[in-house]
Amino acid sequence: MKKDSRPVYQKQNSFFEIRHKDNNSLAETLERIKSVRKRDDFSEKMSQAHKQIFNQVCNDLFDSDSKDQFNQFSLNPSVVEEIATCSDSDLPRYLVHRYRYEIFPQLKTLDEYPPYLQIEPSSICNFRCIFCFETDPTFTDKASGFMGQMTLELFKKIIDQAAGNIEFLSLASRGEPMICKDIVPMLEYTRGKFLNLKLNTNASLLDEEKCHAILSGGVKTIVFSADAAEEPLYSKFRVNGKLSVILDNIERFQKIRQTSYPDLPVITRVSGVKFSDEQDLDSMQKVWGGLVDQVAFVKYNPWENVYNQPANGLDKACSDLWRRMFVWWDGKANPCDVDYKSTLSQGSIKEFDLSKLWRSSNYETLRSDHIESKRKNRNPCSACTVV
Ligand code: SF4
Repeated sequence: MKKDSRPVYQKQNSFFEIRHKDNNSLAETLERIKSVRKRDDFSEKMSQAHKQIFNQVCNDLFDSDSKDQFNQFSLNPSVVEEIATCSDSDLPRYLVHRYRYEIFPQLKTLDEYPPYLQIEPSSICNFRCIFCFETDPTFTDKASGFMGQMTLELFKKIIDQAAGNIEFLSLASRGEPMICKDIVPMLEYTRGKFLNLKLNTNASLLDEEKCHAILSGGVKTIVFSADAAEEPLYSKFRVNGKLSVILDNIERFQKIRQTSYPDLPVITRVSGVKFSDEQDLDSMQKVWGGLVDQVAFVKYNPWENVYNQPANGLDKACSDLWRRMFVWWDGKANPCDVDYKSTLSQGSIKEFDLSKLWRSSNYETLRSDHIESKRKNRNPCSACTVV
């Protein structure tokens, strides 16, 4: 079999490897940004702070001859692909929020809202993937208090606070979102509200109604989780999963997308955890590449037993503390889902709004500890690999 000659982009953000269809050219995207910049009809709708960020984006892309690549905004292939889903009028806003997502964590900059919000419709999962915290019985035991589904009322409250303030969101965290009994009205409620809404699913519960709900809701990127493209490897990792069911469900999703939503700008990705040498992206690409736009591996982190791991010696600050915040099904806010038992939680959305939680004193203390190379004193940061 001929080796796929398309480029593999290494180590972007949390990606271990990602392969794109490469339908969108970087040069064309830069030309498009240049022409939108000249029009200037977007700026009256932007705050002064966001205008400054947009100018910085353009400066980094077109005007800067700085050798400091670290803090410089640039376009990687994933971003180019996301830009292709934006209208010209949304493009400046998208770039502002992309800058907040990429560069704010590097500069340790905070504004009123997290650049990225992850909302958890359900902490319950029907799978027991071998690298996942869902294998920890002290977490999944019904009596533990960690298991549950978000109510539609709470979901709407969070979406109302996020809309207009946060543009990058995911509906996913510790559990499988499609288990949530209100996932269809939740998806309906997101329609037209966000520039970059992502949904992660193991695709096992993806029936026709849910496919329509995703495609007619506000989702821009749908990520199907799979770590292999052949059995028995697939179900060795995704315990309780069956590859033939997942393939059928993703094929049905794509058929519905093509027939009922042919012009909808949505990105599809199959993403797995790079856990062992038995996995390789070429095998993934052969099967999944024909079905979705992107195929990727993310880096493994010891999610399944992080609290019992020895300190790993990392002392660099965790970028997630300036990038994203999670809200669990019961309203609890948390800086990450590595800390799946919420030992680092800042409080609940039932008591404080998103902005207050993001700027809370608990969060600030955690950030200071990281800046001062004291993450080794925090469990589970001491054993976590996110930097
Ligand atoms: S456990 Fe700590 S270091 Fe790891 S992602 Fe969470 S906040 Fe960051």
